[in-house]
Amino acid sequence: MNPDSPLMRIRELTVSYAVRRFPGFSQERLQAVRGVSLDLHSGRVFGLVGESGCGKTSLARAIIRLVKPDSGSVHYRDFDLSHADASRLRQARREIQYLFQDPLASLSPRRSIWQTLLEPLLHYRIGNPAGHRARVEQVLEQVDLLADILPRYPHELSGGQHQRVALARALLAEPSLIIADEPMSSLDVSVQARMLTLLRTVQKENGLAFLFISHNLAVVQQLATEVGVMYAGELVECGPVDALLHNPAHPYTRTLLDAVCKPGNAELSALPAGTPPSALHPISGCPFHNRCPHVMEHCKITHPHDNFLATATATGGKHIVRCHLWNS
Ligand code: SF4
Repeated sequence: MNPDSPLMRIRELTVSYAVRRFPGFSQERLQAVRGVSLDLHSGRVFGLVGESGCGKTSLARAIIRLVKPDSGSVHYRDFDLSHADASRLRQARREIQYLFQDPLASLSPRRSIWQTLLEPLLHYRIGNPAGHRARVEQVLEQVDLLADILPRYPHELSGGQHQRVALARALLAEPSLIIADEPMSSLDVSVQARMLTLLRTVQKENGLAFLFISHNLAVVQQLATEVGVMYAGELVECGPVDALLHNPAHPYTRTLLDAVCKPGNAELSALPAGTPPSALHPISGCPFHNRCPHVMEHCKITHPHDNFLATATATGGKHIVRCHLWNS
């Protein structure tokens, strides 16, 4: 594989869920993700940001086929995960590890930390059994945990320790890509900063690709090399972090950044005024038109397409915005 090629290419991914509201009534489709395309590269962090319910988690789950996409493709290295057989999918799931929002729920309460951390080594037949203990202790050190945690059970640990154990388990599978789905949302504010530093160190030391999902733009800013902004199931803007922060092009991104500049306002849940359109009954035209300060008549009718901006960036990456203001 060319070293400059993306590790993962996601193209026009669409995910919907069947919803039956009342017995006897026909099913409706809830449109969670609508035509999302993005690239993930080794050694880089792609920060995905957006309000709750905008489709971030559905996108992440569709990438590793925890939910089946309706259409679109996910190419990982040289194979298509969208049509991968069980054995290819198993191999990919070893290399693509997932950190869940609630780390405690992802740990079995009946297994000691030692049993939890041994599991990926046994499941994927990694290393020699004689070396398993040393390997586990080495990874524990990477995530700032001591070996005396090994005989303990999840209920005996703090929230920060749960997330570190989950991270250690992911690293033991020797991944190339980690999808971290709001990994700090369940942690105390005092623990979040340490966790952020740890994630940054681990990502750099291991040269990993990261898809880091958060509703907190301030956190994403600190970790990401590229940022994507999701709104109502769509990726409305994405690009290298310096381009997006210094030259935000989409009105929604600008509103988010304005809010981050105001102290104590980094949480997107309070922003902006109005509500996103229903995923069951999407509105015509641009999905942001009912909240946009720059709305024009054709925004209410015509769906905007992706525009490539000539924004100068340090990394030379692409800056893309889905908005009629930038139609060429
Ligand atoms: Fe606003 Fe129109 Fe751009 Fe949508 S397409 S963000 S409504 S200006």
